[in-house]
Amino acid sequence: MSKSLEEIFNFQETADDCVKCGKCIPVCTIHQVNPDEVTSPRGFIDLLAQYQQGNLELDKNAKNIFESCFLCTNCVEVCPNDLATDMVIEEVRADIADKFGIAWFKRIAFYLLEHRKVMDVVMKFGFMFKTCAVAEDDKGRGLRARFSMPMVKKGRLLPSMSKVSFLNSQPEEILAPKQEEKNMRVALFIGCLANYNYVNIGDSLVDILKELNIDIFIPKDQLCCGAPAYFTGAVDSVERMTKANIEYFESFMDDCDAMLIPEATCSAMIKHDWQVFFKNHNMPEWEARAKKVTEKIHMATAWLDDNTELQNILKTRGTFDESVTYHDPCHARKVQGIYEQPRNLLAANYPMVEMSEPNRCCGFGGVTMQTEKFHFAEAAGKPKAAMIKNTKAHYVSAECSACKVQLSEAMNHAEVETIFKNPVELIAEALKK
Ligand code: SF4
Ligand code: SF4
Repeated sequence: MSKSLEEIFNFQETADDCVKCGKCIPVCTIHQVNPDEVTSPRGFIDLLAQYQQGNLELDKNAKNIFESCFLCTNCVEVCPNDLATDMVIEEVRADIADKFGIAWFKRIAFYLLEHRKVMDVVMKFGFMFKTCAVAEDDKGRGLRARFSMPMVKKGRLLPSMSKVSFLNSQPEEILAPKQEEKNMRVALFIGCLANYNYVNIGDSLVDILKELNIDIFIPKDQLCCGAPAYFTGAVDSVERMTKANIEYFESFMDDCDAMLIPEATCSAMIKHDWQVFFKNHNMPEWEARAKKVTEKIHMATAWLDDNTELQNILKTRGTFDESVTYHDPCHARKVQGIYEQPRNLLAANYPMVEMSEPNRCCGFGGVTMQTEKFHFAEAAGKPKAAMIKNTKAHYVSAECSACKVQLSEAMNHAEVETIFKNPVELIAEALKK
């Protein structure tokens, strides 16, 4: 990031730096599905300058416009002046939340994400009574809504649910046999979707680390990374969750070689947005603590490929006929520069086939996009489902459960047969070969 946060969050300064070249327009996810200048990076930046000058009221129309950004960072990648449109949008969303409040269902969701024990009970009840409202998808891709509910159309594919969460099903410590050199010890941060909905991701990562003879520590009191609240502008929730996590991580991080996250969004939130949040809210002590505690935190495939013998071990195992196409989550490739390592590992056992635009946003877009603005998410998912279909791949893989939710539904809608799996799931299967 070449500009300081003070410069970025001075909306007028950002607008002055925009040379109106339009390079961001064709790659902008919202502009692709709603081709209007006001819903483009250039348009957002202009409107924000007007807002800062007092010429634009933050009314329902402005709220509607600023909530339509997918925060995909496609624009940042191509902008010749590195203008961080996503960050200024995140910033104005806090003002929107301040003025309009946060919708009741998002408040409940953020409360549950902050209170793991209550969430555990709610998810248990949800699992028991799920058959009333949803049915298992016949391809095992998730749950299908039996009837239309508020913000969920009949037939829409929703994330699957597990009887017991990942954190409640695994022991806190899993020790490997003692090696000649001191065993490595790795902590896991699992993310909420992988904890409650897609538990096979965490189980697979545990299997991989066992195969590598690495001691595993599963910190049971970890909370949500805060990403859903951050992208919605729920500042209070973000502050509570990030501070609680930092204090907790500090209590064990010195005894770990790394902390792994098999989720791009959680990893980007923790490694990038935590520091931005504290800097922007003038909490320098917490900013420094966030910086220090996240030094050993990595996306799972990146750390495994860069620091272990996993790739060589995989090459000693058999190969599969089923091909894989890899989708680059925005929060992995664009925010963290991670795209080679998951491909390196998967290519050891699976035929790889690239889709036409692996770096194009899947269209998940966050809580608001998946609920109040789902028509935009649906439209953004269509081209992605089509390019996956064209590859004829058996699996589409991405290290991100938000991409899994979005792509599974997009493929369900377009009747694409390809199955989504996180790369750690495919790697764990290859190790059993
Ligand atoms: S973050 Fe994505 S959706 Fe938002 S303005 Fe940039 S390209 Fe468009
Ligand atoms: S690419 Fe950057 S400088 Fe060019 S119009 Fe978009 S925001 Fe402005």
